[in-house]
Amino acid sequence: MGTGGRLVAAAVSRWGDDPWALGSWSLIGRGGTPGDRVALGEPVGGRLRIAGEATHPTRAGMTHGAFEQGIAAGIWAAEAGHRRVAVVGAGMAGLGAARELGRLGVAVEIWEARDRVGGRTAGVDVGGFGFDLGANWLQQYDDNVLARLAEELGLTVTPTDFTDPFVLGPARSGVPKGLESELRARLEAAAPQAAVGDVVGEWLREPGRFEAGAIRDFVDAEIVMDSGAPLSWLSARYGFEPGVGEGDRWIVGGYRLLVEHLAAGVDVRLNRPVTEIRVGERGVTLIGDGHAADFDAVIVTVPLAVLTTIGFAPALPDRHRVAVERLGMGRVEKVVLRFEQRFWPEHAAGYYRVHGPGENEICEWLDASAADGVPTVVGLFAGPWLGELWDGTDAEVAERAAGIFRDAVRG
Ligand SMILES: Cc1cc2nc3c(=O)[nH]c(=O)nc-3n(C[C@H](O)[C@H](O)[C@H](O)COP(=O)(O)OP(=O)(O)OC[C@H]3O[C@@H](n4cnc5c(N)ncnc54)[C@H](O)[C@@H]3O)c2cc1C
Repeated sequence: MGTGGRLVAAAVSRWGDDPWALGSWSLIGRGGTPGDRVALGEPVGGRLRIAGEATHPTRAGMTHGAFEQGIAAGIWAAEAGHRRVAVVGAGMAGLGAARELGRLGVAVEIWEARDRVGGRTAGVDVGGFGFDLGANWLQQYDDNVLARLAEELGLTVTPTDFTDPFVLGPARSGVPKGLESELRARLEAAAPQAAVGDVVGEWLREPGRFEAGAIRDFVDAEIVMDSGAPLSWLSARYGFEPGVGEGDRWIVGGYRLLVEHLAAGVDVRLNRPVTEIRVGERGVTLIGDGHAADFDAVIVTVPLAVLTTIGFAPALPDRHRVAVERLGMGRVEKVVLRFEQRFWPEHAAGYYRVHGPGENEICEWLDASAADGVPTVVGLFAGPWLGELWDGTDAEVAERAAGIFRDAVRG
């Protein structure tokens, strides 16, 4: 390696250890259905509603889905006649709810656990420019309310073609024709309780016209990478949800350019983690970190994994609790690496894939050099190797990730 591969700046995510996220995005586990998402988002009586990405039946796990659910919950609270509403969490759902309530003339206060807004969109300054350690792309771009907002704000967005990755590292055969449709057919035909791992395991025992290696690679790239969850848990029928590859563009400067706009003028109380929500006949009390306050209603937008850490009185109804049990979260981590010089090949799709040494170990790389001209890649890692790779300081993790990318480029 010449000096070109020297790291000059880096940032590392820690979603799996973050008490206000505890994972990446919500997923449907074996035995679950999209109906569980709908159940979770149903109002609990007249004063409590759970919103957030996990409640969207068709656009879960994405920023615009979260934002849409926040707006829907805001409309619900306003139509119920509430005049003073609390929102828990200042991510896309919370900001969507608060803005809608404000627009409808309802007083609203957001209680946010972190010292920043944006939630799982997480802008970070790396070597003088803004990148994303959380959500990166505006997905389903043509039908995305946040994409329209980005356009209104005049933000620069850059397309990524996920259908045409440059596979770095040891030569691989590519995706054989018909493999994706066969996988989808097998998953759809699976029993309701079956996991992706059951279906793939059965297929690998009798791979038929496909090579086992090609099946494994495809599953790693399309399911492990897009979920970050163990295949033995992920629902066969519903674990492969829409989103990636349906028109993806990343925001130059990062999601925070959108978030700053959405949070402007909203009453957000930072560093205020909610630990308890009491719902009575006359109103709702929010309690957390030495604070308590009364409201007419509350919209809760915390991530699924965090929901179980909040004490609800009375307890959430069975339908909601069952939904929480059937849904779950995966883990995907990111690095932003900035190098002295470019040392990887140009590829029009702007996107690279690297298969790890072990089963279900996978990472993807976005070439983000267009941001400000400095050679930059953003890596997303999923699979069992995360525990080992993410052990240690940020500098150690960044060097390890850079090593994987460099080795893959060398082939
Ligand atoms: C690594 C990664 C990559 C992703 N990539 C994409 C992508 O490219 N495109 C895309 O569309 N989506 C992507 N997503 C998913 C997207 O980020 C989420 O779906 C979306 O941001 C969720 O918004 P939300 O408002 O539902 O939840 P959050 O953004 O998690 O907001 C919830 C808020 O609640 C706060 N909170 C938590 N607990 C408490 C508490 N007890 N009291 C008060 N506040 C609390 C949190 O701090 C947070 O601010 C990605 C996510 C991750 C982690």
